[in-house]
Amino acid sequence: MAISNIAVTHAPSGVVEVEVSGAVRISPHFVRLTVAGDELAGWRHLGFDQWFRLAVPTAGDTRFDNLADTYDMAGYLRYLTLPKATRPVIRNYTVREFRPDALELDIDFVVHGDHGVAGPWASGLPLGASVALIDQGCGYRPVEADHTLLVGDESAMPAVLGILRDLPRDARGQAIIELPDLADRQHVDAPDGVDVHWLVRRPEQPAGRAALDHLHELRIPEGPVYAFAAGESKLATGARRFLVNERGVPKRNVTFCGYWRAH
Ligand SMILES: Cc1cc2nc3c(=O)[nH]c(=O)nc-3n(C[C@H](O)[C@H](O)[C@H](O)COP(=O)(O)OP(=O)(O)OC[C@H]3O[C@@H](n4cnc5c(N)ncnc54)[C@H](O)[C@@H]3O)c2cc1C
Repeated sequence: MAISNIAVTHAPSGVVEVEVSGAVRISPHFVRLTVAGDELAGWRHLGFDQWFRLAVPTAGDTRFDNLADTYDMAGYLRYLTLPKATRPVIRNYTVREFRPDALELDIDFVVHGDHGVAGPWASGLPLGASVALIDQGCGYRPVEADHTLLVGDESAMPAVLGILRDLPRDARGQAIIELPDLADRQHVDAPDGVDVHWLVRRPEQPAGRAALDHLHELRIPEGPVYAFAAGESKLATGARRFLVNERGVPKRNVTFCGYWRAH
């Protein structure tokens, strides 16, 4: 994972094997996969930006049963010892929605072209494929504050929308979400006191720049602030640097996480 200050928590669920039961292109840059299976009965549902390691199959005989139950350093080292031919590729994703009664979980994938593994795999709408999830907990870890500030690009839209959905209804704040296309916008279930600013970046702009520029212009009310910034690495680190250095927000009041790195 790129640079971040989020803490990982491990759940007893370990490696959860599921099957892709739904695959839909929901907007120009997003595919939603629904995964389902009995093993989701043990899923620790936290809401907000809960995320997990997603083990993506790379061949018909990809194995998930020999992955470690926790994907920490020891789990990663064990992963490296597995035969390359049958081990999955591991990437990070957010729980978009969990439906415990149906034992179903939605994941929204950014469709970002032919490079990489998870994005292209999801774009192929892999109905029936087996995958595995290893829960990593929430990055969002608020401190006592009057004002909540959320900043993200499209890769962090599932996280930001999840946090907005699960915030206390009396929360006050602002959310900035940068997208490549306004048609990728999704329904927002936010507290009345939180304003959501949708931004569309211009084709020549690097990812995250529009959100960062908007943050610089934002009027943040007096009083303690808690901020969550995620997305392209420079957006996450730039938002933190700006809030800490220019706006005097204490470091511990800012959670930041680079979700991907532009090349
Ligand atoms: C905690 C956490 C939660 C995340 N949740 C989500 C989520 O819910 N949905 C989601 O789509 N992503 C999410 N991400 C980001 C996702 O893990 C990365 O985008 C990942 O790189 C995708 O893997 P890949 O195999 O498609 O591409 P990789 O093999 O990692 O990269 C291949 C190439 O694609 C480029 N690339 C990768 N991601 C993007 C992107 N989003 N836009 C443009 N270019 C890209 C890279 O720069 C690289 O050149 C999350 C990341 C973290 C750390």
